[in-house]
Amino acid sequence: MSKRIESFMKKIIEKNPGETEFHQAVREVIESIMPFLEKNPKYLEAKIPEKIVEPERVIMFRVPWMDDKAEIHVNRGYRIEMNSAIGPYKGGLRFHPTVNLGILKFLAFEQVFKNSLTTLPMGGGKGGSDFDPKGKSDNEVMRFCQSFMTELSRHIGPNTDVPAGDIGVGAREIGYLFGQYKRLRNEFTGVLTGKGINWGGSLIRPEATGYGAVYFAEEMLKTRNDSIKGKICAVSGSGNVAQYTVEKVTGLGGKAVTLSDSGGYIYDEKGINEKKLAFVKELKNVKRGRIKEYAKEFNCKYFENQRPWAVKCDVAFPSATQNEISESDATKLVKSGCICVAEGANMPTTQEGIKIFLKAKILYGPGKAANAGGVAVSGLEMSQNSERISWTREEVDSRLRNIMIAIHATCVKYGKEGKYIDYVKGANIGGFIKVADTMLDQGLV
Ligand code: NDP
Repeated sequence: MSKRIESFMKKIIEKNPGETEFHQAVREVIESIMPFLEKNPKYLEAKIPEKIVEPERVIMFRVPWMDDKAEIHVNRGYRIEMNSAIGPYKGGLRFHPTVNLGILKFLAFEQVFKNSLTTLPMGGGKGGSDFDPKGKSDNEVMRFCQSFMTELSRHIGPNTDVPAGDIGVGAREIGYLFGQYKRLRNEFTGVLTGKGINWGGSLIRPEATGYGAVYFAEEMLKTRNDSIKGKICAVSGSGNVAQYTVEKVTGLGGKAVTLSDSGGYIYDEKGINEKKLAFVKELKNVKRGRIKEYAKEFNCKYFENQRPWAVKCDVAFPSATQNEISESDATKLVKSGCICVAEGANMPTTQEGIKIFLKAKILYGPGKAANAGGVAVSGLEMSQNSERISWTREEVDSRLRNIMIAIHATCVKYGKEGKYIDYVKGANIGGFIKVADTMLDQGLV
């Protein structure tokens, strides 16, 4: 590793103690773009790398709320406004007990590159809370969301910062958050994306991240004259991204055989067909149950406290959370013949795992490229809101597909090394250039 990278990382670690996921995300980017920076010293001279890792603003706040038994709870809320060079801050809200400053900074940092890759004018941000919606009643979730938005509303707006959903923040939460914003500000405006279809939401937004990840995998496979058709696919998670990944895999003639949650994974050798997926959607989005109930319903295997990477598959779609593919998981995947990994989740593969994929020269699409379809359709939702129009499913889906094709082309442009495409390098350099050039244009801000 070059001395410059070492000294850069030393400063990052000293300045942001304990934020291990943030260190990991910065290291991955800086290692892959440093040779490009050294060839283009204008970025180094203008201290763009130092600026791009420092959030423009970090907001942290108290979120008090009352449960159904009138007991008071206090959570912590956050919004990281990372970079607004190319547009308003944009990125999801995560409600999960593991949420902390370091995790949200890693997500906000990734978001800057991802949003740049989409070709749409969106800056990068991320937010959330250590609140756990699991096991809470709808009324409790609503009271929490109202309290969270009471503070957040001072900092966001359709031209300033436009949050969306992420882990633990789906249609229900976005509804409660939007309702409270509207009540406080007395304006009906596109301040959040992922809204319901009756009140400004975009068709295909729920599907976008999962569909986009599969479109991206299809593009990667195309470079080897291959396709999803007939492929056995391992999918992790069972939330928004996982559900629509399975739907699109099946639609394109592949076979998804796994799903998981924090309790374990199910292995359905026969494939998760449309009917079984409908069961999962009801189980997860309405009943808010556990994935092991799938195994009971369809008489297949359930592996408690395990992740699905030991299963034989051609393509893997990690779609749960960060660092869910370790070095040994990556080794297992490569050994079992997996030829393509498209990350629906953010940073699901550890740095050691990524090295295994790159060394084996399999098709490896990092999250900031492969899962950018979600934020891309959020960007399309913002455009529709500004114009007060709504596009058809076909229109949005075709724009989504074209965006994923464009992201893939950018990765190829900056990541091609002989015959091999290093998508990590391609996505990082491709995402960086647009933001960095804009920061140069806008002067010392
Ligand atoms: P959901 O809340 O809908 O689903 C998350 C899924 O991941 C659940 O099955 C959950 O299981 C599982 N999971 C979460 N944390 C853990 C953990 N620590 N260990 C094991 N399993 C876990 O979230 P999404 O589907 O929206 O998000 C999934 C991933 O995709 C995240 O990394 C997110 O950042 C990323 N992403 C999402 C986008 C979107 O549009 N929604 C856009 C781009 C990326 P359990 O219920 O047991 O917690």
